[in-house]
Amino acid sequence: MEINGNQLIGNNQSREGSDTFQSISPHDNSPASEALYAEATPDEINRAVQLAAGAFGQYRKTPKEDKAKFLACIADEILALDEQLVKQCVLETGLPEGRIIGERGRTVNQLRLFAEYVSNGNWIEAVIDTAIPDRQPIPRPDLRSMLVPLGPVAVFGASNFPLAFSVAGGDTVSALAAGCPVVFKAHPAHPVTCELVGRAIITAAHKTGMPEGVFSLVHGKTNEVGAALVQHPAIKAVGFTGSHRGGMALFQLANAREEPIPVYAEMGSTNPVFILPGALKEHAQKISGELVGSVTLGVGQFCTNPGMVFIEENATSQDFMALLHDHVAQSNGGTMLTKEINQAYSRGVETLESIEGVAIKTRGAMKETANYGQPVLFVTGFEHFEKENRIAEEVFGPSTVLVVGKTRGEILLAAENLKGHLTATLHGTEQDLNDYKDLIEILETKAGRLIINGYPTGVEVCHAMVHGGPYPATTDSRTTSVGTAAIKRFARPVCYQGFPQQGLPEPLRDENPWGIYRLVNGALTRDQI
Ligand code: NAP
Repeated sequence: MEINGNQLIGNNQSREGSDTFQSISPHDNSPASEALYAEATPDEINRAVQLAAGAFGQYRKTPKEDKAKFLACIADEILALDEQLVKQCVLETGLPEGRIIGERGRTVNQLRLFAEYVSNGNWIEAVIDTAIPDRQPIPRPDLRSMLVPLGPVAVFGASNFPLAFSVAGGDTVSALAAGCPVVFKAHPAHPVTCELVGRAIITAAHKTGMPEGVFSLVHGKTNEVGAALVQHPAIKAVGFTGSHRGGMALFQLANAREEPIPVYAEMGSTNPVFILPGALKEHAQKISGELVGSVTLGVGQFCTNPGMVFIEENATSQDFMALLHDHVAQSNGGTMLTKEINQAYSRGVETLESIEGVAIKTRGAMKETANYGQPVLFVTGFEHFEKENRIAEEVFGPSTVLVVGKTRGEILLAAENLKGHLTATLHGTEQDLNDYKDLIEILETKAGRLIINGYPTGVEVCHAMVHGGPYPATTDSRTTSVGTAAIKRFARPVCYQGFPQQGLPEPLRDENPWGIYRLVNGALTRDQI
């Protein structure tokens, strides 16, 4: 496929803007492609959103089996891009080929999972309370509710998942599955990958007979394009994955609109890890090696990167620190996603280093390659952690801070002091887990996913996954951006009162034509009424 840098607006391509930018390879800071990407103009943004609004009427009524075919066809079209996608993505992200192939597999499987999920129909949460005409003192009318799609959605992807959290990533697929057209703001760190995947989606829409405007993609290097999208009156929700700064800027814009709209911003997180005394004593070797593997995985460029580790000072804690030191000293960093992310990582390391009581214990291997992120292990005590909020802030890259508490009480207090995170992890023996039940209870209030004897990196795409958490990890702790439950973000409940059978949406009719599970008079059943 020939890359041209155009905006993808419904079935048409457009190129009106005069300010251009190029894809830059972090391997050597040179252009990753000759294509020039233009900033989308206000008119182009408006056309994309108007087309999405026009498509909504038809797309929301598209049979669920046809939506499923569309999603599955996107997966096929992405695979058909084959080597071109993999090579281009490696070039513009600096991520290794194996990682990109793995992430493509995850993206394709996610599309197929949603196809299956949307075609079985249960997600609409049908609830039926049949009429009780002779109820005293007043009769109960017939009431039936289900979820319906919100309308056109603006989606923003992150640079660190150029496929799974980008153009055809979790936000796009869950919005499309819910019945919402998507206008995607391409990430300027991987515009070619965005263009390739965007064109794959538009081809799939065409092949499966979806209405024009069900998907559009606009480019921009300045924040103006994203801001205009969020402020457009026809946009009804926003899906965002990225930095805290970006997520909050869009959240505030959305709330300042005449009609405020929901913003599902999944932002950074420091993912605390607690290693309890029994585990520290019995499994120090194993945990220290695996933990450093998790910290340095993908050059630490994961929202689930374990950025804070808590241990209690005791007879074995020094041994654990020595092991951690050895593993970090032997670890490798790598090329980071962009020059700016690499610079931000260096600034983050400098900031931590400048905080009183925080010391660099170990640095990993250093290489003189472009945009190299070097692993760093910091150590501090609870007394400093308690005083200084910046220790708990995300430093996006391969670093972690070991916080040593003197007592069990300090560990519990540290947990109490945490803000919201995507994950919280505990390592403990059976005895530890009994002794630290109160810690688990505290962590339940702090994170969307609790992990026992594992690591936060690696997020399964499934029905039970919660990839979310209290603010500042997200702007809405009731949701997830990974897994099938993500679909609920782009739907709202509607109740139909006293409707005749033929006037009801199909899934709410007595004969249950979709054959789905429904809550009928308080009991879950697939029976007809
Ligand atoms: P980013 O710089 O915030 O970019 C994400 C998207 O938001 C881009 O399209 C960006 O466009 C746009 N954006 C950012 N600020 C904006 C603003 N003020 N107005 C309008 N648009 C704006 O994030 P990133 O550097 O790509 O990703 C790394 C961050 O994402 C890390 O903090 C990581 O933890 C987080 N992340 C979170 C998750 C999760 O699931 N919670 C997953 C992956 C990554 P421009 O570049 O044009 O500004």
